[in-house]
Amino acid sequence: MYSADDYLPLSGVQHFAYCPRQWALIHIEHYWADNGRTVDGVNMHERCHDELLRERRGNLLIVRGLRVSSSVLGIFGVCDVVEFRKCDAGTSLQGEEGLWLPTPVEYKRGRAKCGYEDMVQVCAQAMCLEEMLGCDVERGYLFYGETKRRVEVVCDGDLRTTTKKTADAMHRLFARGLSPRAKLRPGCGSCSLADLCLPELSKTRPVSEYIADLTASGDA
Ligand code: SF4
Repeated sequence: MYSADDYLPLSGVQHFAYCPRQWALIHIEHYWADNGRTVDGVNMHERCHDELLRERRGNLLIVRGLRVSSSVLGIFGVCDVVEFRKCDAGTSLQGEEGLWLPTPVEYKRGRAKCGYEDMVQVCAQAMCLEEMLGCDVERGYLFYGETKRRVEVVCDGDLRTTTKKTADAMHRLFARGLSPRAKLRPGCGSCSLADLCLPELSKTRPVSEYIADLTASGDA
């Protein structure tokens, strides 16, 4: 269990799962740089986070910009959209009759990725909602702007374990206060921090190796 003073931003779970160095540059070193993808993402989230946009469609209540937190994960943040469906397995909501089952929906600008980074973000939201509302949240959704499709995220035991491990690793790195070294990876090409991170330098040989080679060849 984490104390509220130690909570870290929920959105960081996705950054950390994508690349711990990216997360550290943003959350420890406070760097940020936009590219086309991040600007699109911000525009998309602005509408999602409009807290005045609350809709009811029959037995479906759609709430935007819901603030959530979890002491188990040690995180706080905002859910883009939470859909509450009237259902016996749900929880009571202030000002609403009956029981309502929450399902988080996270909006992303692009298309579904091969990695698990978006899924842990949804799972983290589901775990926050469970802790706050006292009901089971077994699934959530990712909505991708490019494909205009929803992808179901089943919050099973494996994904919950991965989410918890990711959050714990994030806290450990935050306590250490040092960014991990850059490591060139396929995602670097689309990373908005590539110009600050300079991952290509990770391929550069250490100076000690050059000196050792020069000494061995007699040029030094
Ligand atoms: S450029 Fe690559 S290594 Fe650097 S922060 Fe981005 S994804 Fe991580």
